[in-house]
Amino acid sequence: MLQNLLDFDLEGLTAWFTELGEKPFRARQVFHWVHQAGVADFAQMTDIAKSLREKLQQHAVVAPPAISYAHTSADGTRKWLFDVGVANGIETVFIPEEDRGTLCVSSQVGCALECTFCSTGRQGFNRNLTVAEIVGQLWVAHHGLRGQANRTTGEISERPVTNVVMMGMGEPLANFENVVTALGIMLDDHAYGLSRRRVTVSTSGLVPAMDRLAERCPVALAVSLHAPNDALRDQIVPINKKYPLVELMAACRRYLVHAPRDFITFEYVMLAGVNDQPEHARQLVELTRDVPCKFNLIPFNPFPDSGYDKPHAEPMRVFRQILQDAGYVVTTRKTRGDDIDAACGQLAGKVADKSGRVMKRLHKEAA
Ligand code: SAH
Ligand code: SF4
Repeated sequence: MLQNLLDFDLEGLTAWFTELGEKPFRARQVFHWVHQAGVADFAQMTDIAKSLREKLQQHAVVAPPAISYAHTSADGTRKWLFDVGVANGIETVFIPEEDRGTLCVSSQVGCALECTFCSTGRQGFNRNLTVAEIVGQLWVAHHGLRGQANRTTGEISERPVTNVVMMGMGEPLANFENVVTALGIMLDDHAYGLSRRRVTVSTSGLVPAMDRLAERCPVALAVSLHAPNDALRDQIVPINKKYPLVELMAACRRYLVHAPRDFITFEYVMLAGVNDQPEHARQLVELTRDVPCKFNLIPFNPFPDSGYDKPHAEPMRVFRQILQDAGYVVTTRKTRGDDIDAACGQLAGKVADKSGRVMKRLHKEAA
């Protein structure tokens, strides 16, 4: 079996090189070629001795997941669907803005946590992604976009991806070891050198894993709250039955001791008539009183047979105002890449559409 070098952080690659009888500095050189230069073909690694290149060719490969579909929407949002050999694949989204480029990365195929409003959760759990599949999403995006003009600013960038959010498919903290290794590679100056403050893990609230993340790799943290009381959260985020809100809030406070930012971002999907009422906003203010935080309100992104509706503008405005009046910073997630459904498990969900209609439409757009 060939070893996929995208599975290794620098420490792992160095250990593997030692097994091959090679020196640590050679591992560092190859790591630079792979992650900084984006070179997958050993023959092109020109400052590596020919004998080592041949050895690598025999034993290793640099293999990101295969792209089965890629599309850029009118606003510059780019979306990839990757074939990982099972189910409908996984997706990655790049969102260019004036001052940053954010890549939304997946961590699992499907998700076992079954949040009722999430199309990934509705698919059920298939498997964890490997380190190579997680880092491979960044590898493809970073090297694919490098040197291209940013559609928002027109500027050509050598560092198109400045921020990573683990907000694609899956629950990152349920794939803990692989996610932590992948995060380490994203942060490593020998690879992508991203700032800890600009790499965000989003979790539905796996309390013990939040503590372990604080210890092992404290990056920025977003917590998917979605409800201000246990009765409602038990229904829409079922993991709440295991880790109820009082425990989750305590875990957020503990995380902040180690976090690179001095606040937690609470994500809150607005579901019309379910969790978008003024009393919910007032309860949120009470709930989060002791946790330095910001709120990110996400209008529900509908999918077939979801059973939920998008929130109306007025309840959203009132909700936001209550939080702001209580002194919170509140952002509302902009809908981007609407024409390609660049949000929250939507494309991979649609590929599953047995009629094949959506894929046909997407292929037509791509042509
Ligand atoms: N499992 C992690 C990260 C992936 S989901 C988590 O739950 O935090 C990323 C974000 O998208 C979460 O806040 C999630 O609740 C939200 N989300 C899921 N389905 C959505 C939908 N249909 N519309 C809007 N947001 C959704
Ligand atoms: Fe899983 Fe997150 Fe979707 Fe919940 S919202 S089912 S945790 S991916």
